[in-house]
Amino acid sequence: FLEIKNIKKHFGEGESRVEVLKGIDIEIEKGEFCVLLGPSGSGKSTLLNIIGGIDAADEGYISINGEKTADMNEKALTLYRRKHLGYIFQMYNLIPNLNIKENIEVGAYLSDNPLDVDDLLKTLGLYEHRHKLPNQLSGGQQQRTAIGRAIVKNPDILLCDEPTGALDYNTSKEILQLIEDVNKKYGNTIIMVTHNDAIKQMADRVVKLRDGMIRKNYLNETKLTAAELDW
Ligand code: ATP
Ligand code: MG
Repeated sequence: FLEIKNIKKHFGEGESRVEVLKGIDIEIEKGEFCVLLGPSGSGKSTLLNIIGGIDAADEGYISINGEKTADMNEKALTLYRRKHLGYIFQMYNLIPNLNIKENIEVGAYLSDNPLDVDDLLKTLGLYEHRHKLPNQLSGGQQQRTAIGRAIVKNPDILLCDEPTGALDYNTSKEILQLIEDVNKKYGNTIIMVTHNDAIKQMADRVVKLRDGMIRKNYLNETKLTAAELDW
């Protein structure tokens, strides 16, 4: 379904040139919940951005349902991003003068098969807050709104870059659980960077990056024996 093939990427030139990704290969099944781990600076965000078509690779390709993103022209790629990819960042970036429901509706723009917004608001536990502005909500509620905005288009692929980085442990756990529920309910493929331990019980696949290469890539079949896994 999603093929990441021999992705290479560098930044800078001459003295300051750094090889960030040195040939990354990953295959992800439809509906899989994949977690991407690795030390700071190992290239996790760079890889997500390349998968999301925000950044271009030097070499290699990303293929989604047999179609290489590099073969799409700018317009097709933009359309693809808007219709089929959802992105959740550490910062929520909600629109301050739109209410919660409107912020979520923004994400449905151009979608062929958006989810029912009221249903989604209920799933997210935001229905009673739908008329409030973002600054009237807690951090966790704002992040749930950002999740709503990313998934309302029912994206094939949901890319999450440390979505709970700004939240306390318990709120983070709730948010991860919510993303897991979304994955189960709607079957979206998820690739997530997170340092939160709770992910051990949720991820189907674990990929570990280090020094620009994949050090580990395995199915997390026995989700509850996380203590035995060398994360
Ligand atoms: P973190 O866990 O801290 O978020 P990361 O694994 O997401 O780290 P990246 O953000 O992908 O790491 O960065 C990987 C390397 O690439 C770092 O050395 C970073 O400084 C460098 N880098 C990333 N983006 C750029 C850029 N636009 N220009 C130059 N260097 C960059
Ligand atoms: Mg990062």
